[in-house]
Amino acid sequence: MVHISPDHLHFIPLGGSEQFGVNLNVYAFGGKYLAVDCGLGFADERFPGIDLILPDPEFLEDRRKDLSGMIITHAHEDHIGAVAYLWPRLKCPIYCSQFTAAVLKNKFAEHGIKKAPIHIIKPHQTLLLAPFEIRFVPVTHSIPEMMCLFISCAAGTVVHSGDWNLDPTPVIGTATDPKVFQEAGKKGILAYIGDSTNAQFDGRTESEVKVEQDLGTLFSQQKGRILVTIFASNVSRIQTVLRAAAASGRQVAIAGRSLHRMTAAAKECGYLKNAPDFISEDDLAFVPAEKTVLLVTGSQGEARAALARIARGQHNFKITKGDTVIFSARTIPGNDAAINNVKNNLVAAGVKVIDPESTDYTIHVSGHPKRGEITDMLQWLKPEIVVPVHGERVMLEAHARLAETLQVPHVFVPTNGAVVRLSKTAPGIVDHVETGLLVVEPRRIMMTNHQALSERRKLQQTGTAHVSLVIDYDGHLLSAPQITTFGLFDPEDTEEQDFGNSITEETVDFIEGLKPADRRDDTILAEKVRIALRNYINHYLGLKPVTSVHITRL
Ligand SMILES: [Zn+2]
Ligand SMILES: [Zn+2]
Repeated sequence: MVHISPDHLHFIPLGGSEQFGVNLNVYAFGGKYLAVDCGLGFADERFPGIDLILPDPEFLEDRRKDLSGMIITHAHEDHIGAVAYLWPRLKCPIYCSQFTAAVLKNKFAEHGIKKAPIHIIKPHQTLLLAPFEIRFVPVTHSIPEMMCLFISCAAGTVVHSGDWNLDPTPVIGTATDPKVFQEAGKKGILAYIGDSTNAQFDGRTESEVKVEQDLGTLFSQQKGRILVTIFASNVSRIQTVLRAAAASGRQVAIAGRSLHRMTAAAKECGYLKNAPDFISEDDLAFVPAEKTVLLVTGSQGEARAALARIARGQHNFKITKGDTVIFSARTIPGNDAAINNVKNNLVAAGVKVIDPESTDYTIHVSGHPKRGEITDMLQWLKPEIVVPVHGERVMLEAHARLAETLQVPHVFVPTNGAVVRLSKTAPGIVDHVETGLLVVEPRRIMMTNHQALSERRKLQQTGTAHVSLVIDYDGHLLSAPQITTFGLFDPEDTEEQDFGNSITEETVDFIEGLKPADRRDDTILAEKVRIALRNYINHYLGLKPVTSVHITRL
């Protein structure tokens, strides 16, 4: 087991420092541990049949008795989404804002977890989880009550940024207060652990207010019904759409489970008050087309989300020619193909598609800081050390290069599992913790290197063939071999049927041609038939399917 020296403060990202999502960060000092965020990620084609991935909490689980607690910075899925899956393995107290707690309680309820200790922390409140003292600093983001953390211990103060920007006129919550950061900088900041999402982009993030204006204009220009797809957790955007719709005389309904859940949590905490209310999806039918907007989930092309189902014609809401679909969200790297698939279905149905790339109007702004804002932050804080997190490798590297140009003395780009020593005198990546990713199936959670997944990948590419043999003591067939294949042939196709019959005949001939001793030994017979069958199929199709043989000897 890795030894983490208790004399120094260490930062260990268990997830989130190599890919989008799956954020799980650890601070270690004096033999105690503090976890920050526990988010999920989306599976790609490497994980057939899997939608969600989680960070591996084993490192924390092994040290559970010394785990002081887990802080959730905000309620976005990439920070909160794995808590309900992994908390049962940690059983530690959880600290977060009121809104984040509302979202988390719903998640626990869905997972049947009744008594999780969730403690609500107010903005600017200080929490003592010895040896750590944590101040919760509210910052602007696209969701309510995002808390940046000032984590202090005897080794110094670390600013763990979470997701933030400097929108001067945020539509929800107050604007990030530069003074808080400037003052912290004057007192001395040991390290800044910060959001890298937009570190490749120059300039500054535009205000959400601009989205409200531009969506309002776009709404007025459309004749038919309008669908707007967003991230369900973008509560600011939900309000923006409600207000833009009202300004253009349209009423808003919502479709998609996660949007219903998120708006319920927002209302419970007193948000969405300065916007008109929703109408129900059923009421849409009674409102003229040009007076409606439907907010839908599925901005990332998720196959089971409302938008993809609407685009395929598999939803109660039927799309018609002349309708408009607006993508008011960014494309998370890796989701391009799925999103294009949805767009193609929509366009084929005569629907107009507007996305951030195809319009000069500002229909999406990011909740994350671009280089201009990161520069401000680093100049306010003047940290000794910068550790870029939250992003893919290219984003982390861009963040690091920027910090170097701003004369930050020490910059370390971590991989997942890196043990980063945060010390003025001897900073650096000093060790590495074994960590990985987990995948979520309906009834189990397993490691990404589970054999089931590697087998599934193989089956996807080659198909499978199975043969059952019923033979006597001498290995003579008592009936024709039963061959079953998946992913190889079309049983309706007569030519391919003939081919299927021919492999059965070849298998019969092959077995009869074997030496009597081989026919009498189940293991040898099965292996020889397996290779022969796979070779026949390979000869015809150029594929080597996963092949198995069962022998019944009577
Ligand atoms: Zn995030
Ligand atoms: Zn976020």
